[in-house]
Amino acid sequence: MAEKKSKGQKLADDLLSKPQSLGEKDPKFLEEASKFCEGYKKFLACKTEREAVAYAIPILKKHKYTEYVHGKKYKAGDKFYLNNRDKDLIMCTMGKKPVSEGIRVSVAHLDSPRLDFKPHPLFEDGEMVYFKTHYYGGIKKYQWTTVPMSIRGVVMLKDGTKVTINVGEDESDPSFIITDLLVHLARDQMQKTASKVVEGEQLNLLIGSWPFDDEKVSQRCKLAIMQILNEKYGFTEDDLESAELCAVPAFKARDLGFDRSLVAGYGQDDSSCAYAEFMAELDTKDPEYTTVTIFADKEETGSDGPTGMASYFFRDFIEDLAQDAGCEVRHVMRRSICLSADVGAGYDPAWPEVFERNNCAFMNHGPILSKYDGAGGKYSTNDASAEMVNYIQRIFREAGVSWQMGELGKIDVGGGGTIASYISLNNIDTIDIGVPVLSMHAPVEVVAKADEYMLYKAIHAVYNSALPKEI
Ligand code: MN
Ligand code: MN
Repeated sequence: MAEKKSKGQKLADDLLSKPQSLGEKDPKFLEEASKFCEGYKKFLACKTEREAVAYAIPILKKHKYTEYVHGKKYKAGDKFYLNNRDKDLIMCTMGKKPVSEGIRVSVAHLDSPRLDFKPHPLFEDGEMVYFKTHYYGGIKKYQWTTVPMSIRGVVMLKDGTKVTINVGEDESDPSFIITDLLVHLARDQMQKTASKVVEGEQLNLLIGSWPFDDEKVSQRCKLAIMQILNEKYGFTEDDLESAELCAVPAFKARDLGFDRSLVAGYGQDDSSCAYAEFMAELDTKDPEYTTVTIFADKEETGSDGPTGMASYFFRDFIEDLAQDAGCEVRHVMRRSICLSADVGAGYDPAWPEVFERNNCAFMNHGPILSKYDGAGGKYSTNDASAEMVNYIQRIFREAGVSWQMGELGKIDVGGGGTIASYISLNNIDTIDIGVPVLSMHAPVEVVAKADEYMLYKAIHAVYNSALPKEI
């Protein structure tokens, strides 16, 4: 028989917060989460924004989504999507209420830190051939050497034909690698600070070493590689000037741990959130409010350009929806809410000193709700209001969704921003949500399956809630 609780114990039950992991709350949760994450691991095979968009569109069509047509009358339950330059995707399910009552937005980004190629990438040195890269996003450069890489992207031929490239991932493909200095000659290198141990101009991808059989030409190894590329893909060196090629880690996403509770893989910032919101969107059939699910690009470099969230493409789309419904975009925006779905830092016992224990996020404690991010004294951040945080939490409680409130780390050790700032400038109440990640921005990142599945449930709950938001 359970011992009777003391007065103090009862009071503590009533008054104090008791953080609990998803595993403590429901030991069976991992089973369900693991099923969900089988699809997630497949999605992680998309390693660029273009690949994720190309992967999603056929799935959308299978789920009866049609391409959005401005002026067309959509009825409740209709599903449609808008493709922005093959790099962003907006997916919608029409709600029962008119859009003038507000929409339910979530946004996650598809781009991840990687090594883009320079416009003149191909060179030979020491009778070896390389692609010269220009890193994309915030990376610890030393992590990207001696890691098997694959090459992804598009090359535009002179006649405008687009050639898609994806090589280095398959067992039968060749592999590519960036070399590092042997430790025997690294006495100077080992004295350098981490940001200088490997520098940007040393991130050259090794792609060949065998000379073309003609002594009359110079750079015979380079010519030999160019010949192979030309035969396989039809392009010449000139065509690389306009190409969008990059190198990404060639690891497949895999279960991590004897208990298989975690996923190890590249690009989980932010494919974890993109997949969760994608599945929530697909599984939303007849929502009260119109859902708008966004796959965004260029988050890792500041959200600039026509495919970044600083662009007007999102607002223009909502304006189209507003016009279709005979109302003004600004009236839609101010009644709407947005989940800015991006990953946060998971507590890592190897570096306890950067985390503040009462306000950091733990693996397997559910998606992190972040009221704000930014850096220092809350610089450059959306800061969700008490009303907005409470509104989302009420939806979560009603739907049985678990969450943890979390900041990135200690105030003065760093910081970071998210897309929330760009969405909220449209006068939309926005809050950050995302799974905790270990080794964020490294070639292989770690996410907990239970957190990933609970994030899906969280976004699904917001999409399917009929709870009106006061404005
Ligand atoms: Mn991110
Ligand atoms: Mn990031």
